[in-house]
Amino acid sequence: MYHDCHIHWRAETNGRDVLTAMDKQEMQKAVLIGPHRTETNEQVVESIGVIADICALDPDRLLGLVWIEPTLSEAADHVERAIADHGLAGIKMIPDHWYPYEERFFPVYRKIEELRVPLLFHSGILFGNMDSSRFCRPVFYEVMLHFPRLKFALAHISWPWTDECIAVGGRMRAASRRGDVPEMQMFVDITRGTPDFYRKDALDRALRYLGPERLIYGSDDRIPGELSRSRKGVETDREIICGDLGWSEDDFDKIARRNLEDFLTPFE
Ligand SMILES: [Zn+2]
Repeated sequence: MYHDCHIHWRAETNGRDVLTAMDKQEMQKAVLIGPHRTETNEQVVESIGVIADICALDPDRLLGLVWIEPTLSEAADHVERAIADHGLAGIKMIPDHWYPYEERFFPVYRKIEELRVPLLFHSGILFGNMDSSRFCRPVFYEVMLHFPRLKFALAHISWPWTDECIAVGGRMRAASRRGDVPEMQMFVDITRGTPDFYRKDALDRALRYLGPERLIYGSDDRIPGELSRSRKGVETDREIICGDLGWSEDDFDKIARRNLEDFLTPFE
């Protein structure tokens, strides 16, 4: 059994069908990212309802992330509604013609920190949103040091900026060791993006520098669907991490399961 930290909603479905697909792939928990409907406040409210309805069936296995657009006037209220009212598991954001470090978003980050839920950021090249890859460089997320109780993850190992992503992880770890922040806040979502011939090298570097406690398996698979891409990805990653790179099955279990539990558990 494994968990997947990165599955997208693509079209109408329901919790029952998602659980059936998960069972077939031996997936225990799925982090489901809500519809990318973020052009207006009303659309975000609607998107929260869609993902909350799916996850309500089994909130222990179906973990909903609300897609927040921090440039919207009611973004902090959207966070409150998704987490406090609907009990969703966390937040997802993609910087699209805004930079994650802009101080105008600090009230939104503060609200997320206050509600003690994690934040998954897209990081790296972006094929979907026209010319917005430049807003998603890993070093821009260093701003999270201002929100020391907020756990966050950078998706796709920030490919092609994988070294920069790993270095930001080192920087966040150093801050926790120095006592600037109480604990290490950052995780690396290893969802693909990396073409296979880059992947082994990127995982090798991430594991050697950050250790197996910081990486979380994800797939970018979609619902509705069979979730077979997720299953294939986790099996390939086991071969790379345990077979090629020599890490133990216990280390792989952290990446495929336990680190997600950690990510979702608030700091004490
Ligand atoms: Zn994605």
